[in-house]
This record gives sequence, C-alpha cells and structure tokens, in this order.
Amino acid sequence: MSLANKLAEERRARLAAERLLEQKQAELHAANRKLGKHALALSEEIVETRAEVQTVRDENERVKSDLTVANEKIQIAERRLWHSIETIQDGFAFFDIDSRMIAANKAWLAVFDGLEDVKPGVSYIEILQLVTEEGIIDIGDMPPAAWREKMLDRWQSPSPEAEVIRLWNGEYIKLIDQRGHGGDVVSLALNITDTVRYEKKLNDARRAAEAASKAKSSFLANMSHEIRTPMNGIVGMAELLIDTSLNEEQRLFADTIKSSGEALLVIINDVLDYSKIEAGKLELHEEPFDLERCIHELVTLMQVNTRDKGLDLLVDYDIFLPGRFIGDPGRLRQVLTNLIGNAVKFTEEGHVIVRATGVPSDDMRQTELHITIEDTGIGIPPDKAQHIFGEFNQVDDERNRKFEGTGLGLAISERLIRMMGGHIWVESEEGNGAVFGFSVTLPTAESVDPSSLHVPEGLKTALIVEDQPANRTILERQLGALGIRTQSVQSGAEALATLPGEVDLVVTDHIMPQMDGMELAEAMREAGHQMPVILLSPSPTTAEQDPARRHVQAVLGRPTPRADLFAALDRLKDRFTAPRAPAVEPPPPPEPAGARAMRVLAADDNKTNRLVFSKMVKALDIELEFATNGIEAVALYESFDPDLVFMDISMPEMDGKEATRRIREIEARSGRHVPVVAMTAHAMGGDKEDILSAGLDHYLTKPLSKSAISGQVAAAQPAGTRPPLPEDQAAS
Ligand code: ADP
Repeated sequence: MSLANKLAEERRARLAAERLLEQKQAELHAANRKLGKHALALSEEIVETRAEVQTVRDENERVKSDLTVANEKIQIAERRLWHSIETIQDGFAFFDIDSRMIAANKAWLAVFDGLEDVKPGVSYIEILQLVTEEGIIDIGDMPPAAWREKMLDRWQSPSPEAEVIRLWNGEYIKLIDQRGHGGDVVSLALNITDTVRYEKKLNDARRAAEAASKAKSSFLANMSHEIRTPMNGIVGMAELLIDTSLNEEQRLFADTIKSSGEALLVIINDVLDYSKIEAGKLELHEEPFDLERCIHELVTLMQVNTRDKGLDLLVDYDIFLPGRFIGDPGRLRQVLTNLIGNAVKFTEEGHVIVRATGVPSDDMRQTELHITIEDTGIGIPPDKAQHIFGEFNQVDDERNRKFEGTGLGLAISERLIRMMGGHIWVESEEGNGAVFGFSVTLPTAESVDPSSLHVPEGLKTALIVEDQPANRTILERQLGALGIRTQSVQSGAEALATLPGEVDLVVTDHIMPQMDGMELAEAMREAGHQMPVILLSPSPTTAEQDPARRHVQAVLGRPTPRADLFAALDRLKDRFTAPRAPAVEPPPPPEPAGARAMRVLAADDNKTNRLVFSKMVKALDIELEFATNGIEAVALYESFDPDLVFMDISMPEMDGKEATRRIREIEARSGRHVPVVAMTAHAMGGDKEDILSAGLDHYLTKPLSKSAISGQVAAAQPAGTRPPLPEDQAAS
C-alpha cells in the first residue's frame, strides 16, 4: 500500500475517530444538562420541604402558646367562679355520682360549725349521720334514724323536692338539690331565716287584722242589735200614735218620727250589709224559692208608692220561664228591691216594668236568668253609668238633693250579683228613662210543667180591655203564647161595640177612665153577653166588695202571677164548652157557731216591746198572754195552751231558743206542733239558721210591723177558732 493510501486511510480513521469523539462529547453534554436540571429541581424541592417544616414548626409553637393562654384563662375563670361561689351568702356544694362531696363553699360548710370530717370526699350519708349526732339540725320529735331515712330518700329521688330545715340556733335553711346528667348533684342551701321571720310577722299581722275585723263585725252585729231594739220602740210607738186621734200637726209629727225611724233602719241595714261584704263576711244561703212569687210580692209592696204617684208598676214574667230556682232569695229580693225602688223613686210618670226571661241550659238543669227593670224616669247621663255602681256614688248632688238615699244600694247590689256569679248593667239616656238589668245562672228547682200551661178546650179567642199600652202588650203576649187569639181595645165602650164577635173570654183592667172593668161587666150582662169576664185589679179587695162583683167570674191581682191566671182559666173551663150561664160566686161557708178566739203567747223581756206588741194586735180577735222570760214562756205554754207563740230571742234567765227547745221536748210527748215565731233584733248572716235550727218555725226582725204580726196570726189560725183578723185586714 502506498503511502498516500496509508495517509488517506489514516486521515479517514482520524476523521471517524474525531466524529465519534464529537458525538460522545454531545451525548455527555446532554447528560450533563439533564443532570443539572434534576439537581436544580431537587434543590427546589429541598427548599420547599424545608419551608413546610418551618411552617409546621411555627404552627406547633402557636398552638402551644394558645394552649397556655387557654389554660390560663380556664384557671382564671375557675378562680373567679369559685371566688363568686365563695362570695355568695348561700351554701353551694356538689357531689359525684356516688354521693361523695366534690367541693363546697364556706357558707355550705359553715352550717357544720367547723366539723373537720365534712370536707371533699365525705359521703352524703356520713353528713346526715354527723348532723344528727352533733345536734346541728333541729329535727323536732322525729327519731334521728327516721329523719335520716327521710332525707336520704329525698336525696336519691330523681328530682328532690325543696326541703326546709331548722338549725340548732333557730335559723332556717332551704335545701335545693339538683341532679345533673352524669349523676352529679348540685346542692344549694339558702338561708331563709329572714323570710321565715317576715312570713311569721305577716301571719301574726294577718291574724291580728282578722281578729280586728271579727271584732268589727261583732261590733256591727251588736250595734245593729242595740240600735234596732230602741228603734223598735220608736217606730212601733209612732205607728200606734198614728192610730190614735191626733190633730193635723201631731199626725205630721208622728208620721215624721215613723218614716225617719224607718229610713234610719234602711241606712243602718245598708251600712251593715256593705261592711259585711267588704269584710268578706257575707254568705249566700241557697235554698229553693219561687222567683215569680218573690217579684210579685215586692211589686205588691211597692204599689203603695206607685199608686200615690200615678205610676204603673208592671210585671212581665215569661210564661215559659220556670218559677222556682235555687238561690239566695233574701239577697235576690234585696237587689230587686233596690232596683225597683230606684226605678220608682226616679220616675214621676209613666211606668216601671219588671221583666223576667231566661235561657235554659242544654240539660235544663240551670237557667240563665235575665231580669230587667225598665222605667220612664229621669234617666242617667252616659258618663255616670258606671260611677253610680261605686259606693256612696250618686249621679250628682244637685239632682239627688230631692231624692233620699245613701248611694249604697247599687254598690251592694253589684257586689251581691257578682257573688252570685252574675253581672249587673244599666242602659239609659238622660231624660229618657233607664233600664237596669242583671243576669245570674241559677239551678232550676222546678221546671215548667207543660200540662199546667194547658188552656181549656173551648177557649180560642179573648178580648183584652186595657187602656195602658204596656199592660196591653204584656197580656197580648202572655195569652198569645198560650195559643189564644187576642183582640185588644182601650176602653169599656170600645169593648161593648166589639161584642159579641167571636169572643170566648173578656180580660179587663179594673181601673179605666169613663167606664171601669166592673161597670163594663155589668153593661155586658145587661146587653146579654154571657162570656166569662176576668178582671185584673191592682186592689182586688176593693173589687171583691163591688156590688157588680157577681158579673165577673174571676178577680185577679195585678200584676198577675201566672199560676193565678191558669187557676182562673181552669176554674172557668166548663164555661167555655158548656152553654154559658150567668155566674154567681158561691157564698163563703158560714163560720162554725161557738168557735173560740185564738190563743197567742208572746214572750219579751222588754216592757216597751210588750206594750208595742199589745197595741199592734189590739184590733185582732185573739186572747193574748205575755211572758217576760223563757222560763215563764215554757210554763205558760203548758198552762195557757197557745195556738201560736211569738218568742223574743235575747231574754234573761232563759233565752228564746232554749225556751223553744223545751217546748219542742214537751210536744214530742204529745205529738203537737205549735208554731213559734222568733222576734229578734239580730240581723247578721247565720242568725236566721241558728234560730230556726233551735226549733222555731218563722222569723220576724225588729222593728215589728203590724202587718207582719197579723200575717203570722192569720196563717196560724187552727180549725175551730174565730178568724183573728178583722174583715178589712183579712181581705188585704
Ligand atoms: P241611692 O238610690 O240610695 O242614692 P243607689 O246606689 O241605689 O243609691 O243609686 C245610686 C244613684 O244612681 C242614685 O242616687 C241615682 O242618682 C242613680 N240612679 C239609680 N237608679 C236610677 C234610675 N232608675 N233612674 C235614674 N237614676 C238612677
């Protein structure tokens, strides 16, 4: 091989080697670059990780310091809490689920008076044991074991009741223990010594006040007795004086004494009632009573005043409303008396109507009664409507000066009705009359018997003759409710012009201008109209004595109780079906000849009262004997054999109650029962029951009235004796 070739070959080999070197160098370079990048990434990672580690380390430091702060706070809070617990005056302790004390404040521990054993860890049972052994607690007569058992039972109950204990030194501690969720018990011991002492003081004060109120009550009762007894003499004597021959001036004086005395008694009674209500001493005495009768009796009494004034006093008692209820008749009568009395007092002309309606309960056992008293008087300004129900309140002094009154009547009525669970109201316009009303719900004592409302078969139509519009409306409604067709006229002349028509019955007012009811009946008979006539009269006695009485088939009082109306319709029933004949009332049965006078015994220790009594019965046909005490009354009961006894209650030696008891003992052997009527000045609630329970039958309150005595005598007349009342009195 040539050198040139060799050189060429070498050059080629060198070139190839150079190329390989270049290639390897490039590869090395690339590898180096990669390594560099990797190293960079690695170092970045290391930096990051190091930063993270630092963050975690910082966090740990913060948490650690927070924890320290929190711990400090907890310690402060705990210290404060405990400080507060220590500061409060009341005892505070808590126990774990096993009833071991965890902690207690000083006040709680103070009760144990330095007993070292009472400290955290002690059990509740041990505490109970210690307090009984050391006499720390006054457990009274209770044996210590029983007391501990009682306290332990209480402690173990899920929610122990509060318990008051008394310490040896007279202090009172109220224990309030509360069981928590985990079974721990928080125990509070409150020192209530001051409260207990205060309560005791209050109780003592209340007892003293009650005693004072009782004393006031009995003072009032005594005052009532003391005032009533001499008033009995004054009013009674004045009444007797009026019956003697007097000149006009003397009569005026006597009348004034009597009416002033009576007015004073009304005031005394009002003040007494009001004091009793205020002292909570007034009790209601419930019994069955006849409301309708009660209203009619009151109205009859008040008619004396209304007649003088020319006022009409009417009753509109719902025909289907029961008559008998259970309630306190005396107190209802008092309310009615006040309301009707006011209506009459404040009305110069027109009318006063007492209306009674009611709504029965679903089972018919009770009735919600609504009673209104409507007048056409002076009325009440609206701004005074509530004011007048307050005590001593009147509409105004100027206006009231001409009317008597204390301003207590409505206040008493309002309270009485409230006590009965009802309410009272007034609706009025000044100058246009007033309607006072009250409603009470009372048990029904006797519901209306539908058969008693039966109208005779032939009675289909009635002619009402009545000049007074309010009266006419009431009659139309009552008869209409019974299914009787009514036709009304205003005078006798109009009635005669209408008859005979289709009229089965004529119901006429007695007192009418021009032709009165009696004259109408007479004129009807003369004209040949034979249908029966019922005459309604405010004074039935006068009507009975009218020569034209025989033309009238029934005379009924006005206002007319429903029972009287039904009884009259029933008596006439044959006349509606049978051919009509002129009616003549049968004459009263003749008195048995040779009958003796009634024997009446009256016992009273007071000479004036005996004198008053003898004068009051002077006109009666009776044989009267007096006893001056209970012993004499019993003796006379046996020797005199009375038909009726009037018995004073307060008498020396033997009082009226004891005397009556003895009389009833004597009668128990003979089987007789002579009525004994109490005469008393006592007016406090409960007296009546007390007296009646001693065996007395009736009760009269002093001052006695002639009519009350006569009423009792007439009611007690036995068969075979002469009527004790003179004819004019008997009729009324
Ligand atoms: P008194 O009638 O004794 O004054 P009341 O308490 O019964 O006391 O009545 C209080 C007042 O209410 C009366 O004074 C009167 O001014 C007024 N009053 C009561 N009823 C009526 C009435 N029917 N019409 C007008 N005013 C009345």
